[in-house]
Amino acid sequence: MAAESTSRGRPALIGAAAAIALAAIFLAAQWFWPLMMPSAGRPNVLLITIDTLRADRLGCYGDRDAVTPVLDALAAGGVRFLDAVAHVPLTLPSHATILTGVTPLKHGVRDNAGFVLGPSLRTLAEQFGAEGYETAAFVSGFPVHHRFGLARGFDVYDDRFPYGGDPTRPPYVERRADQTIAAVTAWLAARSGEDRRPFLIWLHLFDPHSPYDPPEPYRSRFSARPYDGEVAFTDAQIGLFLDQLARADLRDQTLILATSDHGEGLGEHGEPTHGLFIYDSTIRVPVILAGPGVPIGRTVATLARGIDVAPTLLDLARLPPLPDAEGRSLQATWGEGRAADEPAYVESLFGRLSFGWAPLYGWHDRQMMFIDAPRAELYDVQADPGQLHDLSGTRTADASRFHRIIEAAVSKAPVAEPASTSREAGDRLRSLGYTGGSGPIPNPSLRDPKDSAALAVRIERAMAVERADPKKAIKEFRSVLIEDPSNPLPRRHLAVALTAERRFEDALAELKQLVAAGDTSAETLVFMGECYRLSGRNEEALETFRQGAARDPRIPDPLNGRGKTLVAMNRRDEARQAFERALVLEPDDPEALGGLADLAIERGDLAEARARLETLRERDGEDTSITLKLGVVFVRLGELDRAIELFSEVVGRQPGNVDAAVDLGGALAKSGRPAEAVPYFERAVAAGARSPVVWNSLGFARLESGNQAGAIEALRQSLRVKADQPNIVAMLRKLEGR
Ligand SMILES: [Zn+2]
Repeated sequence: MAAESTSRGRPALIGAAAAIALAAIFLAAQWFWPLMMPSAGRPNVLLITIDTLRADRLGCYGDRDAVTPVLDALAAGGVRFLDAVAHVPLTLPSHATILTGVTPLKHGVRDNAGFVLGPSLRTLAEQFGAEGYETAAFVSGFPVHHRFGLARGFDVYDDRFPYGGDPTRPPYVERRADQTIAAVTAWLAARSGEDRRPFLIWLHLFDPHSPYDPPEPYRSRFSARPYDGEVAFTDAQIGLFLDQLARADLRDQTLILATSDHGEGLGEHGEPTHGLFIYDSTIRVPVILAGPGVPIGRTVATLARGIDVAPTLLDLARLPPLPDAEGRSLQATWGEGRAADEPAYVESLFGRLSFGWAPLYGWHDRQMMFIDAPRAELYDVQADPGQLHDLSGTRTADASRFHRIIEAAVSKAPVAEPASTSREAGDRLRSLGYTGGSGPIPNPSLRDPKDSAALAVRIERAMAVERADPKKAIKEFRSVLIEDPSNPLPRRHLAVALTAERRFEDALAELKQLVAAGDTSAETLVFMGECYRLSGRNEEALETFRQGAARDPRIPDPLNGRGKTLVAMNRRDEARQAFERALVLEPDDPEALGGLADLAIERGDLAEARARLETLRERDGEDTSITLKLGVVFVRLGELDRAIELFSEVVGRQPGNVDAAVDLGGALAKSGRPAEAVPYFERAVAAGARSPVVWNSLGFARLESGNQAGAIEALRQSLRVKADQPNIVAMLRKLEGR
């Protein structure tokens, strides 16, 4: 018996006939995937959405200059859809469609700002989870942060965007592909072996989204076309993860669907990025499928749509369909007898919700595209892929037929007013070029967006420099407002630029114009409150924040504004209450946590300060100011080793950070290691620190480590900065033997 169980003994026990039968079963299994799959025949599922990826920038879609070997190979080993469209050129609405199988008309998420996917529709993740799948999402851009409702149904929803460290952009906006791939790889490694359940992974990569700044060597290699560099970098990162799956022996059991949420204008139709228009430049996306149940090397001409993604994955995994899905499984399109095309509804309300311009609704089938605008457009997208020849004047019957279809579809789904966006969320969205979300726009101009593409570009450019070069931005916003006076966005951002110039009264004048025109959004009230606070008009600030909280009791900003105002008024207990109420609304709100930490430090409540700062640090370990503050709290708690650890971390990352060097030197000196402290004080002095405290610390550390001459020199420097230091004068006298 023992011999039989060894691998060496086994082949001898198998007769020739048995061996042939086993080989036959093995071969059959290659062609009949379900037998090979884990957990009663269910494949793992990997949904990859590459944000802002134009199909025609991939090698497999005909771009000869593309460097996208991974996605090209995936297409070669699976099915590629020649014609695929997203329903909306905006990240959150389009992903809401991918995850629910319905268009924005039904899920109601019409823009990135001001909308959250509600609980009424079942999601792809919920369906896979209910059928025993482990579900995990690893996402890379703020528009799909869990606060916007896409996390529902995922066991793990990893949206830890790093601080970023770019002073011209708000923090926590995006995560580069290599970091997201590292996170999903770590998750996969941690689960292997134990958990035998199949998985659904949604991997969202954000790199092709503007700004285009791929890491080296892509930056140099693609210096003339950085967008393509981002695409190439992302492709390579996907390759690393697919290799990881292969090494874990999971690749063959994993169904992979790669697509995008929308394309990128890259200057077509006067649009640099995406969002305003619904031409193919931003609507056409890749759809590539590979893995169990998918034929190899097939291209399919049937139109694929965003709403088809979830039904297709569920069908291929042989799970029940989503009850409300409007899309269909694409499996039918590559089966016997080609399935008929089904058209796609398309929209963008970006111009309407941001600028008060006309909304754009479209109808897209494989051949034609109709755009319902003040001046309608009709294109033959097969003959005219750039959509340069409008046929609406010649093919009037087609145009009016499409118009009627759209009217019927749209009339059933009125647009819900966008909710206010918290200031932090608004800043992060705006840094990505998304501008909407401050509530209803009174007296919208409803102008045709195609007449105003240049205006949109000017607004976007001015917004990009509103803090770095406010004078330039102010000039541009004023000139835009002459052409489009009822557009609230340039006026609000004119106020932002004026604030950057510390012209708070002028900013208030612009904001009051918005309010007079009927804008009573919480966002505008909070902004006014900040202007009052920063110009020292504290009572008016408190009153305006009170109005803001009444307008929208769900966002933390009015409470944070109130807290900061009360701190300035020395009403610290009330300030603390305000920050605590903000935290109830948003448990990891950085402004409230920071405010509470500072108040706790002031009171000497080091335990609370420590807890708040540790929460902040957990939220983002890269914000060095938090790490330093926490280190100082540890010094005061007497936990010098922990403090030294934190200060060293910052010094290691930012060798030129003067505060970190001084803090580290101080903690080392305090823990009886003056010789180790000296070089950090010296570094701080070399980096420009000139305060007498630093010179004195250097002097004492040198003295304690036996360098009397050096100590004398440092203390003399200190007295040069500030002569009136009797203790130092006395100390110097003693050292010099006078
Ligand atoms: Zn996107």
